[in-house]
Amino acid sequence: MIERAAEALSTSRRILVFTGAGISTESGIPDFRGPQGLWKRFDPSDYTYNRYLTDREFREQSWKRHFESPYLSAVPNDAHRAVTLLWESGRSIGCVTQNIDGLHAAAGLPNRALVEVHGNAHTAHCISCGAEPTLSDIEQRWRSGDTDPRCGSCGGILKTKIVYFGEDLPTEAIARAWRMTEDADAVLVVGSSLCVYPAAFIPLDVVDRGHPLVIVNQGATDHDFRAAALIDGPAATVLPLLIDRLLA
Ligand code: NAD
Repeated sequence: MIERAAEALSTSRRILVFTGAGISTESGIPDFRGPQGLWKRFDPSDYTYNRYLTDREFREQSWKRHFESPYLSAVPNDAHRAVTLLWESGRSIGCVTQNIDGLHAAAGLPNRALVEVHGNAHTAHCISCGAEPTLSDIEQRWRSGDTDPRCGSCGGILKTKIVYFGEDLPTEAIARAWRMTEDADAVLVVGSSLCVYPAAFIPLDVVDRGHPLVIVNQGATDHDFRAAALIDGPAATVLPLLIDRLLA
């Protein structure tokens, strides 16, 4: 299967890599819909932007979950490093990720090659005035008992830059993602069930324009039938083998 996937990408020079939660499970961060997925334990309809704005108790729980979550201490795995290697080889135009864990950047992928369409867990802002206190400032206040920290400038509600259900996607990131998509001549999906929209329109657009789709994912995705090659296996093992083969 690795052979077939490498063959499908062999003539491409502007591969768009599209990643989802599955690329980070081997770094210890659970996905949403996999066998150990978070949605087995939580109800997605609870995690709305409107609820965050209107429900103080929900914000308190959100900060608690955030500062106790595995996102903040996780480190990249071999799949994140393989994505960086592909970009460094000159064969990729970059990576659009649905992940908020910051692990592509931690694996050395530069900002110009990375678009985080669902935001980032390591940054925060005031939803009223846009001030951007550091997460470590907020954490310090939270650890000293301020359970619903407010903006130091205007008193507004502070929130991480993780995109919640019902919240607009970051405009600039989406524009950059579409520019990469339009320039791509193949798409390599890693660790995504391809069922979260509008993000999934990004890889599918590359396929709609007649370019090859290669999927590395444990389990089925909604678009397996469109793939030129499919590898069902753990990304941190499979992706380095595929990239090695491709660059050999
Ligand atoms: P998803 O949970 O819908 O799908 C993840 C897919 O990856 C599943 O099909 C799962 O079987 C597969 N998978 C799990 N472990 C794998 C591995 N080691 N190797 C290969 N495949 C593996 O995730 P999604 O499509 O990214 O969409 C859900 C949303 O979840 C996204 O919007 C994202 O923002 C958010 N999310 C992000 C993180 C993160 O930042 N790490 C974690 C959980 C959820």
